Amino acid sequence: MPGYDEISRCNRCGFCQSVCPTYLHSRDETQVARGRIYLTRLLLEGKYDFTLDAEVSGKVDDCLLCGACTVNCPSSVKTDEIMVSARRDFAANRGLTLFQKLVYRGLLSHSERLERASLLMRIYERTGARNVLYGKILGRALDRLAYYDSFLPRGMSRPARAQLEPVMAPSGSPRLRVGYFLGCASNVFWSQTALTAISYLIHRGVEVHLPPTGCCGEPHRTCGDEAEVRRLAGLNSTLIFRDGFDLIATDCSTCAQALAHYDEFVGADSREAERIRPLLGKVVDLNTLVVEHLGLDADNLRPISHSAATYHDSCHAVRGLGVSEAPRRILGAIPGLELREMDGADSCCGGAGSYGFTHPSMSGRIAAAKAENIAKTGASLVATSCPACALQLGAGLRRAGQAQAVAHPVELLARSAAISMFRQTPEMAQGQDPEMEP
Ligand code: SF4
Ligand code: SF4
Repeated sequence: MPGYDEISRCNRCGFCQSVCPTYLHSRDETQVARGRIYLTRLLLEGKYDFTLDAEVSGKVDDCLLCGACTVNCPSSVKTDEIMVSARRDFAANRGLTLFQKLVYRGLLSHSERLERASLLMRIYERTGARNVLYGKILGRALDRLAYYDSFLPRGMSRPARAQLEPVMAPSGSPRLRVGYFLGCASNVFWSQTALTAISYLIHRGVEVHLPPTGCCGEPHRTCGDEAEVRRLAGLNSTLIFRDGFDLIATDCSTCAQALAHYDEFVGADSREAERIRPLLGKVVDLNTLVVEHLGLDADNLRPISHSAATYHDSCHAVRGLGVSEAPRRILGAIPGLELREMDGADSCCGGAGSYGFTHPSMSGRIAAAKAENIAKTGASLVATSCPACALQLGAGLRRAGQAQAVAHPVELLARSAAISMFRQTPEMAQGQDPEMEP
């Protein structure tokens, strides 16, 4: 259970109400940091039995862990950490939920299973089963199924790892050696982005290493599965935190934030933590790698097929890593592309890992509001630096009937630089743009 000291720093001022997405979409005091902290305090004081009280534990599970309350809190109360700590106690006392067992332990913990499952998704996509299912058989009867289907990117290609080599060298001597951490969602759902980003890095003289890492462990951390967090972090850290890499980069801001805290993930007092702590400063998100370590090479950029873009700040990028300027600088460097800020650009999209699956009602409302804000900018493109946000944004746009494309800023930069791809998927060879369409 979270420390009483941290909980008692909440002075109940209510400033968190103005920024908490779940409160703004429910106006329910139990759905805001102040209320959640109060409930957690009651648990700590033994006034609720959290092993029995599903309603109270549900309020803790309803938190997006977006961190917006903390940056707006006069006492800087770390509500997200308090919630994770409470979930750890729930998991220890009640065990994991069926969803967490099946999806986190069953799929994400084993990358090869997730890759195999993605084959079924691609078959579903390519055979037109979606149209048959929704158009002719089920019609509108199964709205819930249609909701989940909206998350599946259109035109998925094979997992990125299957199309890449363990070491990819540029022509000539490399200017940097980078360990690339390929996250689960990037590998399977946003493979186009990973392929394009890696191609771009090689084009810019980077030697890219792709160690056989697995899930970063962040999904397991958020549900309190401490043993699995430690196991995954231990496995990954031996592969990615190696001397010899100048930097450790990833196209997923969630993975980047997790890696940057791997000393805590493997156990703060462990020998492994001691080994990797000096290397944690090498972790960068892809935008930062490009802007601060490679430069934008603006003279060699040309217009892309969009004239206006907006940018969605993922919670892990903007509040976790403090990254907000680098992606905007990338978008601003593309000739002919106007960056139009949306209202609430740094407000959580409601994706929050698997939140869209476990909390469809709240997540759907947040996604709809985000889609509306995107529409108001008039941009034809929305960029973001997190594949989980990309899935959520794509789903929200699809359900709203909007046609904006979703892409990573570096993916757009690569297109503007007109680089040749390291690998071409069949869709790219045919001139299609599969993952860019919502
Ligand atoms: S803003 Fe901070 S101190 Fe104020 S009620 Fe919210 S969590 Fe408590
Ligand atoms: S972390 Fe986000 S969802 Fe959770 S209480 Fe804070 S602002 Fe609300």
